[in-house]
Amino acid sequence: MRPDFAFYTPRLMPTSTFTLRATPLDLDFAHPFGIARWTRTATANVLVEVEAEGVVGRGEGAPNARYGESQDDALATIARLRLDRPATREQVVACIDAMALQTSGQNSARAAVDAALWDWLGKQVDKPAWALLGLPRPRPTPTSYTIGIDTPEVIARKIREAPGVDVLKIKLGTDDDRALLRAVRTATDLPIRVDANEGWADRETALRRIMWLAEEGVELVEQPVPAGRYDDVAWLRERSPLPLVADEDCGGLEDIARLAGVYDGVNLKLDKSGGLLEASRMAQAAVRHGLRVMVGCMASSSLATTAAFHLAGAAEWLDLDGHLLLADDPFEGVELEDGRLVLPDRPGLGVRPRRD
Ligand code: MG
Repeated sequence: MRPDFAFYTPRLMPTSTFTLRATPLDLDFAHPFGIARWTRTATANVLVEVEAEGVVGRGEGAPNARYGESQDDALATIARLRLDRPATREQVVACIDAMALQTSGQNSARAAVDAALWDWLGKQVDKPAWALLGLPRPRPTPTSYTIGIDTPEVIARKIREAPGVDVLKIKLGTDDDRALLRAVRTATDLPIRVDANEGWADRETALRRIMWLAEEGVELVEQPVPAGRYDDVAWLRERSPLPLVADEDCGGLEDIARLAGVYDGVNLKLDKSGGLLEASRMAQAAVRHGLRVMVGCMASSSLATTAAFHLAGAAEWLDLDGHLLLADDPFEGVELEDGRLVLPDRPGLGVRPRRD
C-alpha cells in the first residue's frame, strides 16, 4: 500500500503567520560627525518589521564597531531568529528574554527586534510601549544636542544652525580640547555636557581636564577614560567636582552593580542593553544602587530615539538627539518643542514612516 503523502504535506496557516523582516537602514548625517575615535558621514543601521494580523511593529538598531557589531552581522543575526508569535505582554517578555542567547554579541540587533515587538503589541492592544513596560509616563523632557568634533569654524556654524535646545553635549577627548571648547563658548553660553568617549589616556590627564571643565561651567563628564579602568574612575570621582557618567563602561544589567560607587551615573542606550526591556530593568537597578540615569542613543532615526524616549520618565538626563543630526529622518516620532522632546499620542512606540 502506498503511503498517503498528503498526510505529510505541511499546511500553511495564514492566520498564524508572524513575519520578521530586517533590512538595511542607511542614514546620512546633516554634517560629518566626529568623536574621539572617528568621524563619519553616515550610519549603517537596521530596520526590523514584525507583522501579524495586519499590524506592523517597527524597531531600529544601530550596530556599532566599538562593540564588535556591523550592519551585515546584525541582519544575519536577525535572519536566523526563530520567534513564536507572542500574544500578551508576558509572552513578549519571554520572547525577548529567549532571544538573548541567539543574539549574543549583537545587542543592537536584539534592540531592533525588542522595539518592534513592543510597537506591535502596543498597536494590538492600543497602549503605548511605556505603559506595557510598567514605566512612568514620559513627560515633555529637555534633551541635549550633540556638537561633534570639528574645526572651530564648523563648530560655530553647527551651534548657530542647531535646533532650539537648552543644553549642548560636546564631544572632547582629543589634544585640541581647549580650542574645541573655546569655539563652543565663543558661539554660545548654553549649559554644556562633555563626552570624552574614552579619549583621555590616563587619570591625571582626565583630572586636569575635568577641573578645567568645571571652571567652564560644564554640567557633567561622560566616559573620561577607556572602559574597564574602574579604579581610575573611582580615583577621579573622589576628586571631581563634576558628576561622572559611564557610557562605554555600561552595557547591560550585569554592569550596574559593578559601576555603583565608581561612577555617579550611567548612560543607558537601547543598542547597548539589547532593547527596552533590559534598559527598563537597568534603570530600576541603577536607582537601587544610587546611580543617576541618563538615556542616550546611537546615531539613528527617530524610530530609535522615540523608542528610547519611552524610558524618559525614569531618567534624569536625556541625550536623544540622533534624529536631529540626520540630513533626512525617514520616521516621525518624538518632536522637539521649546527644547523638550514630546511623545506623540499614538499606541506602541508612537512612530510612523514619514512617507509610505
Ligand atoms: Mg557617550
